[in-house]
Amino acid sequence: MRDPVWKGDGKDLRYAIIGAGMSGILAAIKLIERGERNFTVFEKGTDLGGTWRDNSYPGLTCDTPSHAYSYSFALNPQWSSYYASGPEIHEYFRKVATERGVLPHIRYQSEVTSCVFDEESATWRIGLTDGGTAEVDVVYAASGVLHHPNVPALPGLESFAGKAFHSARWDDTAVLDGTRVGVIGCGSTGIQIVNALSSRSARVVHFQRSPQWIMPVPQFPYTPEQQAEFARDPAKIEAIRHDPVYWEAVFRFTDGVTDFNSPQIAEIEEICRRNLEDSVRDPVLREKLRPNYRAACKRLIYSWEYYECVQRPAVFVETGGIERIEPAGVRMKDGTLHELDVLVLATGFKADQVIRPATCTGRDGLALDDFWAVRPTAHYAVSLPGFPNFFMLNGPTGPVGNFPLIDIAEMQWGYLEQLLEPVRQGKARSVEPTREAFDAYEARRIEAAKKTIFGSGCTSWYLDKTGIPATWPWSYQDFARAMEKPVLSEFRYSA
Ligand SMILES: Cc1cc2nc3c(=O)[nH]c(=O)nc-3n(C[C@H](O)[C@H](O)[C@H](O)COP(=O)(O)OP(=O)(O)OC[C@H]3O[C@@H](n4cnc5c(N)ncnc54)[C@H](O)[C@@H]3O)c2cc1C
Repeated sequence: MRDPVWKGDGKDLRYAIIGAGMSGILAAIKLIERGERNFTVFEKGTDLGGTWRDNSYPGLTCDTPSHAYSYSFALNPQWSSYYASGPEIHEYFRKVATERGVLPHIRYQSEVTSCVFDEESATWRIGLTDGGTAEVDVVYAASGVLHHPNVPALPGLESFAGKAFHSARWDDTAVLDGTRVGVIGCGSTGIQIVNALSSRSARVVHFQRSPQWIMPVPQFPYTPEQQAEFARDPAKIEAIRHDPVYWEAVFRFTDGVTDFNSPQIAEIEEICRRNLEDSVRDPVLREKLRPNYRAACKRLIYSWEYYECVQRPAVFVETGGIERIEPAGVRMKDGTLHELDVLVLATGFKADQVIRPATCTGRDGLALDDFWAVRPTAHYAVSLPGFPNFFMLNGPTGPVGNFPLIDIAEMQWGYLEQLLEPVRQGKARSVEPTREAFDAYEARRIEAAKKTIFGSGCTSWYLDKTGIPATWPWSYQDFARAMEKPVLSEFRYSA
């Protein structure tokens, strides 16, 4: 670092936040709390909420306890149940953003199409679909990893005579009651939709290329008395947030996934196996539902009701290969035709398209697309060499699993605050990780990722195109420790 040049209190920094989902709202609230006013949240949609705006399918439920899936500074005594529904969560983000003064900062229908760093002025020029541009000192990309729907190239899909749509683009005009609905996909979303439709539709065909391990979890409503008690005494909410039994399960999971030979993974596997054996009565169905890969290799499904719902008379599990879609329904490779009125593609998201299609050009014309030619990744999942003052919240290679990503975003924010402090104070104009530090970190991450359960022989959105898990490969506690304080020697501050 050259000699610091003091520019005053640094409050004149200008910020752009890309995306008004959970992470972008968090960033906005934190800037407001610090007295910053010179920032805009660019949101391509017409509403805030990100994931919880885009997904409105029947049965959408958080699979982390609702009191844990809340900002630490905005507890919500009103959660209706242990696992909250999607609309409730969307409403929570709307309420918090409104109360905390975020709304005036959001510019809707403003998709960021480009970010270009200007070396001379150490600023980012933001290009927008609405034709506008903005010049800022700091960019927080909070554009979401599970954002671009993955629509499979199923032959004949366009010929289907009924309604066919991706689960994150729900067609509210589709009739679900008393009709025949096909659900392709067996992630959390596919499972939740089948659960919801199993008592509504005349027939539900659940197409499962690879069945999932199911972790049994409790679900229960909170009574009005409990909600009143939560409002009176927030310590009761904190007790749920810090419930040792819940965190023991989280740590068992995150310790376990780091090593596919660990006793923790064996324990998780045993719980899931017992759940299958004890819950599914028909031996033929039981075998259909038995995965042929390790538990937690794909994102583990947390469900209190799938095995019950899948055994309802209306539900049929299809594990064969799909040949093509026809006007009347789905034709299987064995010739069977499943006649359907509605076809739901619960086929997940293109996680590797994070930030894209926006282009991003850093120092010396370095294109993010080139930097990410093999995989989207970042130094400790938040910053990139060659991209000064450009940070990500819940971006690529962050922790994934069955714990609240709100906590992850809050930890990342705390880390980034410390990193940016010299810039805020005017002691430096920009900060970025050194290429050497990033390369060393990424090499360690890749080596560790190969040993995780995610790389133990299944396909999933966790894997990059070379087959290596694009995830945080160490434990949750390791992540929390890493986020406590940046190692400043790994960063370059430019004056
Ligand atoms: C069905 C489903 C269920 C989930 N359940 C859980 C759960 O139980 N627990 C949990 O912890 N996590 C869960 N997640 C993960 C969830 O995505 C995160 O918890 C969280 O909502 C992510 O917030 P985000 O702000 O980082 O991203 P997002 O919610 O994806 O928000 C990103 C925002 O950025 C906007 N945007 C994107 N690109 C641009 C651009 N170029 N310009 C302008 N705006 C842009 C988008 O429109 C969007 O509003 C779930 C995800 C899905 C899909």
